[in-house]
Amino acid sequence: MDTIYQAHKNHGSITFAESECSDGMCCFTCVIPQNNRHIGLFKSLWKSGTGYSHVKLLVTSEGHKNELYDSCKFLDFAISKSSTDASLEMDLRCSIYKSRPRQCMGYPDKAGESLYERICGPCIFNEYTAPGAYKQLIYKREWNAFYAIRDSEEVIRSVFVHEGSLVAREALLKTKDVHLATLSVETEELDYILVPIPKRTQNILYSSEQHQPIATIRQAYHQWEEKIQRNLQNHYGSEWETRLKNAIEMEEKDVRKRCNEDTADNLEC
Ligand code: SF4
Ligand code: SF4
Repeated sequence: MDTIYQAHKNHGSITFAESECSDGMCCFTCVIPQNNRHIGLFKSLWKSGTGYSHVKLLVTSEGHKNELYDSCKFLDFAISKSSTDASLEMDLRCSIYKSRPRQCMGYPDKAGESLYERICGPCIFNEYTAPGAYKQLIYKREWNAFYAIRDSEEVIRSVFVHEGSLVAREALLKTKDVHLATLSVETEELDYILVPIPKRTQNILYSSEQHQPIATIRQAYHQWEEKIQRNLQNHYGSEWETRLKNAIEMEEKDVRKRCNEDTADNLEC
């Protein structure tokens, strides 16, 4: 059974390095098929990244079982002290970026494992940072995500840049919202440090003409109709269109209400 403990008194914060795709979430879930099949036999002999097998992606949502994802073999996970203040910075990078598989190069503009499965959709970080109404409709629940770093001296030394493992562990545990946890991994109970994944998108989210941040359900549906329709049909069967229409109406009503409240507040000022 998974157990989460309160960490020490919190001080600093942890965020992503100021560069596109520093969250690396798709390298745990969407791009990689089971057993890293996309890598191929030849590349599987190449050296692993620092995050591989030590850092997992944990997804939690109320009333549902925790989900734990392994990273791709080539994911590098690095934490360093920010150069500007006392906070920590995470950077997740592909260690074979120039030679990465074709499906990784195309993602998320061309998502899907093969030509026949190809279906373009928002990337996982885009969905993670999307408004709650979107997640409620598409996933039927809101969910949170954490990086789970194995609580061991060797692992902390391998992911922390420029710090000894004891100093690094202490810095991490003093960071806001970081928790210690024991997680069930296959047949074992293992200790992890849980780092909540920050939701800031600016400079982090990959965006292109096809891939824009999710602002509303209507906009996301317009952008990725085929993918979203498939999800809704899986969840709601023949009722999917009614559910979509109701969710859009509700979201737009809420926006109008908030705008009216803001206008009233400004008038009072
Ligand atoms: S922003 Fe999207 S495409 Fe970039 S690493 Fe994160 S999940 Fe992948
Ligand atoms: S090969 Fe690189 S880009 Fe592709 S899933 Fe692995 S770490 Fe991510």
